[in-house]
Amino acid sequence: MSTAFFSHTACRGHDMGAGHPECPQRLDAITDQLRASGLDALVQPHDAPEATMAQLGRAHETGYVHELYDVLAQAQASGRPRALDPDTSASPGTLAAALRAAGAAVAATDAVIEGRADNAFCAVRPPGHHATRGQAMGFCFFNNVAVAARHALDHHGLQRVAIVDFDVHHGNGTEDIVAGDERILMVSFFQHPLYPYSGAVPRGTNMVNVPLPPYSRGEHMRQAVEQQWLPALEAFAPQMLFISAGFDAHREDELGQLGLVEDDYAWLTRQLLAVAGRHAGGRVVSCLEGGYHLGALGRSVATHLKVLAGAH
Ligand SMILES: [Zn+2]
Repeated sequence: MSTAFFSHTACRGHDMGAGHPECPQRLDAITDQLRASGLDALVQPHDAPEATMAQLGRAHETGYVHELYDVLAQAQASGRPRALDPDTSASPGTLAAALRAAGAAVAATDAVIEGRADNAFCAVRPPGHHATRGQAMGFCFFNNVAVAARHALDHHGLQRVAIVDFDVHHGNGTEDIVAGDERILMVSFFQHPLYPYSGAVPRGTNMVNVPLPPYSRGEHMRQAVEQQWLPALEAFAPQMLFISAGFDAHREDELGQLGLVEDDYAWLTRQLLAVAGRHAGGRVVSCLEGGYHLGALGRSVATHLKVLAGAH
């Protein structure tokens, strides 16, 4: 199998200040772990391009795209940070990072659909799944996965795609964007209650939301996936899978209280690859979301990529 790995140095340039968990070192932890485990030799590295306004506009309100672009361009020009919500702020490097993060997801989609790679992983930040149609929040600016899913549908003409979200937090932004779009099935699990305190009641019939109580472990997650995700995915038969790959449900991650370990991410990735193999010609694009314990993040991404690359 060939696995493309999209990233860009500009994604390190987004900096929300000392002590913020969504920090540039997250990407270093991933590259270090891939090097240490020899996995870097198994994937094809690509520099992510910048997303265009038209691509972003497939998931976001046009007014929001322009407004946010202006705010980020101002932060870039002035060299001064600008707070967008209590835990999300723009630094001078945010514009370039956010455009490359969404651009990575789009380019990965092109590479997989055009057959240049079997699947792809985007090691990018800022993450995207809390960004709604018209609002930046929860460390997120543009919704990378939703932009990519719409690109597959609206640009490449696919008819059905699935978005799978295994971040510990509910992907409220993605839900806001895709609820009611019957071309998209969104399946997720998340700790509940936990930020952003949504998701217990799905906002559309195209959502499979699985709230997990704090301290749930791998066995609970696997049971939920087998009983709720897989039947829905089988019935929907997606032509491509997009993964909001957050690794903050890891037991060592302090932003949530779930108890997943690397083996759980390997199992989950295998289940998703099997669904993609049965229905989607194996097409999977996975985008980094959360994951804040640097060691656990590096190891979990390596495990996920190892399965994607067929080496596990
Ligand atoms: Zn998260």
